[in-house]
Amino acid sequence: MDAARGLDLVLYLAQAGCAIAQASIFAYYYRVSKLEYLRLWGLSFVALALYLVAAMLSSNFGDPPMGALPLRMTISAASLTAAYLQIALLALGTMAVLGRHPPTQRMVWGLLGISVLLGVVTMLLFAGPPSASTQRVMLRSGLRYALTGAAYLIVAILLWRRARRSGLGARVAAFAIGAYGVELLHALVILIAETEFGVRLSWAPYIGVLDLIAQLFIGYGLVVWLLEDERLRYERADTALRRLRDFDPVTGFPNRRRLLSDLESTLRGTNQRTAALLVRIDQADMLSSSLGVVAAEAVMAQAAARVEECALPQWPRPARLSEWRLVQIVPHVHTTDDLAASADNLLAALRAPFYSGDRELALSASIGIALSPDDATQAAPLIAAAEAAAQLARGEGGNRFNFYSTEMNSLVLTRLGLQAELRRALLRGEFELYFQPLLAAGNHQFAGAESLVRWQHPKRGLLAPDMFIDEMARLGMIEDLDRHVLERACREAQQWRSHAGKPLTVAVNISTRSFQREHFPELVRAVLASTGLDPQRLELEVLESGALDDMDRATECLTRLRALGVSVSLDDFGTGYSSLSHLRALPVDCLKIDRSFGNEVLVDPRTAAIVAAIVTLAHSLGLEVTVEGVENAAQQAWFERHGVDRLQGYHFARPMDAQRWRVLQDEQDSLSVAGGA
Ligand code: C2E
Ligand code: MG
Ligand code: MG
Repeated sequence: MDAARGLDLVLYLAQAGCAIAQASIFAYYYRVSKLEYLRLWGLSFVALALYLVAAMLSSNFGDPPMGALPLRMTISAASLTAAYLQIALLALGTMAVLGRHPPTQRMVWGLLGISVLLGVVTMLLFAGPPSASTQRVMLRSGLRYALTGAAYLIVAILLWRRARRSGLGARVAAFAIGAYGVELLHALVILIAETEFGVRLSWAPYIGVLDLIAQLFIGYGLVVWLLEDERLRYERADTALRRLRDFDPVTGFPNRRRLLSDLESTLRGTNQRTAALLVRIDQADMLSSSLGVVAAEAVMAQAAARVEECALPQWPRPARLSEWRLVQIVPHVHTTDDLAASADNLLAALRAPFYSGDRELALSASIGIALSPDDATQAAPLIAAAEAAAQLARGEGGNRFNFYSTEMNSLVLTRLGLQAELRRALLRGEFELYFQPLLAAGNHQFAGAESLVRWQHPKRGLLAPDMFIDEMARLGMIEDLDRHVLERACREAQQWRSHAGKPLTVAVNISTRSFQREHFPELVRAVLASTGLDPQRLELEVLESGALDDMDRATECLTRLRALGVSVSLDDFGTGYSSLSHLRALPVDCLKIDRSFGNEVLVDPRTAAIVAAIVTLAHSLGLEVTVEGVENAAQQAWFERHGVDRLQGYHFARPMDAQRWRVLQDEQDSLSVAGGA
């Protein structure tokens, strides 16, 4: 082999290696982000590598003897097909990245078909015995150079126009793709000069070096671009999520969380009286059930607009406390008469007819008014007082307002009774565990179950946690409950069988209080040791807000828990959240998307985009994603399409007692045995 052929061989191999490296990078990013253009570009680089290898074989091993002609023709057809496939895939990927006309499935198959046809036809037309005229060779290679060169140039121009808005990576990639296009046209000129005019250009053997340099820059540019793009998407999702965290998407008003934090600062910063007017739509139940989610939200948006119109310019924006409750804060209250006038005003505004499509709706509201510092000095109790007053107004027939009064404190008395009962319940073992299955997305096999505590109250029957958890936290009893639940859950899980070769995990909810205790990991270790449960089968669910409260302590605790082999999920993700960037720092294993997103992703494109971004980001950080509260097939399909790993919700199973859960495991086991037989 002479030196020129040797150099050629090295260059072909180097370029093929480079193309494979680029394809692998795209494949990696495609796996985490599922962006279509990455798949198409990755495949385009695979086609380029195939072309280079085939071209190397056909050009470097000399003309075969006639007997080997079929082999030579096959290689030649493969190399040409790969070359055209590469252009088609590059073009499709570019269309996808530019996003204006994402390629349809028909287009993809059409273009791929045309490339294969072009490859085979050009080979058949021009292939021939070694004595074939040089013009044929010229046409075969020349056509390819011309088409690929032009395609690269067009792609470069299109990308450059977009790259001006992006960072350095996109610009380098667009420039290098353009340079590669020019380089291919340059190769065409050399080919014409050699075959048509017999001119041998001295630099011709080295143009492969230029190809290689251009390709290296394409690769470098695209990788930097991907990184920049990822950062940009991350920042956008972060900003959007912050908005979602603080504002209600339907009314644009501050949400409960924002209301409480703003009100807290207002109360702290003033020594004047501040009032909270809580407006509650009287027909809430009827509206939700008769209009459907979308229309009911539209009515709420109209109501919100009217409440805002009644506000004086110096008042803060009203807030949306919950589905049918709005709160108007009134600062610097002079007389309660002013407040009564404002409430009357609001009631009148809400009595005017509402419209849903061409349906006219007659609504009314109940308003509760509480004053700080008279009724409460902190935000949450002030709102609770306004709520109690509004409930009373509603109980009196609605369409009226009430000031909070201390008689309403009778509620507090029932609370005292509850405390005594709770203490007894712990001693008597009245807390029971229910289990709700977690299913693997795709095959819907059981992956484990979440334990959910219930209180088997001797008189009131089975009570859900929202009836007692907060109270237990206030009483300082929550850690005892957590320990009790953890032990029971581990003991129970020890008896579960494996499914499809995988042991089932048990997820246990841990209160923020327990989680923040320094000795908590030690407690978990002791429970694991006493119950004998494999740590890999235990998953702890901590509230996102709890984990983010004190990042340093949380990080330390999480690290110690993981060292035990236990995994940790952030529960109710997306609700109590401070910043996505914290996620990078927290050593957790899984995000559990809050159940409030289930319906939202189907009706609100903005929420859908954010949740999709969260899934992508979680995966790129190596976290698993579970979604809770899946209530119907449409939600299931949406989450599965967006790559969620595990699903949980009423659509699959409601929480059930331990015995029923074991029966369910047996049933699935026998089903999969029957299915596999
Ligand atoms: P979580 O951990 O987010 O639990 C999921 C809640 O969603 C459960 O409510 C479950 O019954 C409910 N759920 C499940 N699927 C669906 C669905 O498809 N639609 C709807 N609307 N809801 C669904 P549950 O059992 O009332 O528990 C409420 C919360 O109480 C839990 O929320 C958790 O934060 C807390 N909790 C439950 N058990 C414990 C416990 O043992 N210890 C502590 N500290 N907290 C617990
Ligand atoms: Mg949970
Ligand atoms: Mg949750």
